[in-house]
Amino acid sequence: MTSALVPTMGYLHEGHRSLLRIAKKKADKVVLTIFVNPTQFGPNEDFKKYPRNTAKDLALAKEAGVDLVFLPTSHTMYPEGYETFVEVTQAIQGLCGRSRPSHFRGVATIVLKFFNLVQPDYAIFGKKDYQQFGVIKKMVADLNLPIQIIGAPTVREPSGLAMSSRNVYLDDAERKAALSLSEGLFHVRHEINRGQKNISKLLREFKKGLAKNFLIRLDYVACVDAESIQPLRDYKRGRTLFAVAAFVGKTRLIDNVVL
Ligand code: AMP
Repeated sequence: MTSALVPTMGYLHEGHRSLLRIAKKKADKVVLTIFVNPTQFGPNEDFKKYPRNTAKDLALAKEAGVDLVFLPTSHTMYPEGYETFVEVTQAIQGLCGRSRPSHFRGVATIVLKFFNLVQPDYAIFGKKDYQQFGVIKKMVADLNLPIQIIGAPTVREPSGLAMSSRNVYLDDAERKAALSLSEGLFHVRHEINRGQKNISKLLREFKKGLAKNFLIRLDYVACVDAESIQPLRDYKRGRTLFAVAAFVGKTRLIDNVVL
């Protein structure tokens, strides 16, 4: 019997559902974890107000055919005296790792703990959080974990906006402003498909496009190697991750395309 794990922070949406669908196809049993992991939030981030709706999540899990939902408390995962953390050292260097210094240490730690508790054959991660996907793949390879990591494509709203539990924070004007992230990325993809290979130019143009929008404050936009998550100077076909993080109002959103 095989099992697949889908780790989440809950407030489930179609993006999560797509991961569950992949899990269901891959393995006999599907395990879903719902845990807003305190160690991956910085001191001034939204841990306390992160959206939660357990009843709705459980209904979605049931409908999606999940076999087991694990909803631990913080105390269960980090009892008094907890002191062990996992650090991936290179793949965390740029992008979100730079803006959120201890974020991936928290992510790698909680994911490894879930891997040890569940011992799944497969674990599914969304490519919306592309660096996270890269960090987990690296951890699994480096620590010889017998788990196959599967990356799932980003699920978007019809408008193009990448689905995220945090989208619930956005008011109407912000939601509209947020579209310039996905639209900018689609434009970049279009340019690459037309033969443009000058990454610096594309990055410059992307920044210029966002600067027009007063509701948006860019955190970063960068191109890295999609495998190693290391800086990339020249376009590499199929391996160029073009990633953005920006505050739309007070909400930090991320999105990316692989070119
Ligand atoms: P979260 O609950 O936001 O921590 O996400 C849990 C898992 O769902 C992670 O592997 C995410 O990458 C994935 N995920 C979140 N949003 C999306 C999306 N729009 N499309 C695909 N996967 C997603």
